[in-house]
Amino acid sequence: FVTPGVPADTAELIALDRAHVWHPYASMTDPTPAYPVVGASGVRLQFADGREVVDGMSSWWAAIHGYRHPVLDAAARDQLDRMSHVMFGGLTHPGAIGLAQRLVAITGEGMEHVFFSDSGSVGVEVAIKMALQYWRGRGEPRQRLLTVRGGYHGDTFATMAVCDPVGGMHHLFTGVLPEHLFAPRPPDGYDAPLDEAWVAATADLLARHAGEVAAVIVEPTVQGAGGMRFHSPACVRALRELCDAHGVLLILDEIATGFGRTGAWFAHLAADVVPDILCVGKAMTGGYLSMAATLCTPAVAASVCSGEAGALMHGPTYMANPLAAAVACANLDLLATGAWREQVAGIEAGLRAGLAAADGLPKVADVRVLGAIGVIETVGPVDVRAVTEAALAHGVWLRPFSNLIYTMPPYVTGAADVTRIAAAMVAGARANAGV
Ligand code: PLP
Repeated sequence: FVTPGVPADTAELIALDRAHVWHPYASMTDPTPAYPVVGASGVRLQFADGREVVDGMSSWWAAIHGYRHPVLDAAARDQLDRMSHVMFGGLTHPGAIGLAQRLVAITGEGMEHVFFSDSGSVGVEVAIKMALQYWRGRGEPRQRLLTVRGGYHGDTFATMAVCDPVGGMHHLFTGVLPEHLFAPRPPDGYDAPLDEAWVAATADLLARHAGEVAAVIVEPTVQGAGGMRFHSPACVRALRELCDAHGVLLILDEIATGFGRTGAWFAHLAADVVPDILCVGKAMTGGYLSMAATLCTPAVAASVCSGEAGALMHGPTYMANPLAAAVACANLDLLATGAWREQVAGIEAGLRAGLAAADGLPKVADVRVLGAIGVIETVGPVDVRAVTEAALAHGVWLRPFSNLIYTMPPYVTGAADVTRIAAAMVAGARANAGV
């Protein structure tokens, strides 16, 4: 058997992987290989074949401080010496308490209570359950959610039902998912003026379904896996106003945008909006361990707990895992020094400069940058293999999908490596167009 830490031949690893291991959104019969990684340090991944590449993805947007950060490593080791896990029903531990305190302190007004879970999708499931139980607690059961087209909130059944129903990843399941309401996609552009027609269409949907809608759920300012599109903070404010006007809860999903990715601590703080329920995950543990959290206001918690159940009906086995909580506390303490602001601003400037070369290339529909997010949108689906190989030839790991060649690098990526990532993306766009 292959054992972690024991050297193995790359070709053999690839063959065994293909034989047994199913990868995300991948076919078990397609021979496209996954690249074996045997180590990572700083912003570099070490492939089994000896190549070292800059990670342009920060492991799906989570490893914001890069890999093997000494502070995060030490936090994990220290906690391992005390206790790697303990059940959370009826027991608690300092890591969970400290992390909840930190999250409450940094997420702004209103967010007082924290429910931990083990992935972003489950964090959103919990938010949905909170909203439904809130209305049960008030004695007015409501079961529908309203969201916007182009969104992505996870891979579980409740979350798939609020992902984009047509262009998204889950349209195969339409018909077996709960039916929710979809407002138009918010108008493109972080700096775009508020489009009153969009507000009116969303308001109309809420008015037509008055009394049915439990909550509006949306990713504030950046739609991630649904298309890497940016919309203005004014859209988020408009949704808050509509929720207030119609007496509906607002769930903000900051699993991708939270912890500095857009250049603000949280997108809802930049928009000056207080949600009723907030989902965070991904970068919360600096990419070390899987953990998410769902926060809410005292009013939401009070109503959830006053219903017939008297409690929120959820409890994952690995809830509030002490290892993850310890690393998350250390990660948030690292972020509290504030260095990420300059780092993200530097990445934004570097990506703007480097990606300008993609403007006007064949098959390039749009180039956009916000914070530590850089996107080349292509005309039609990308040739994933060609783009990946072109980026690797530049010493960069990218994982394009749909019609997107994008990067969300670790915040600690230095200027030269940001330039390298941008050049790799432009090379990917060229390879995609065959020029
Ligand atoms: N919500 C948003 C906005 C996301 O970007 C993601 C993941 O990409 C999720 C939810 C689901 O998180 P996870 O993949 O940890 O289940």
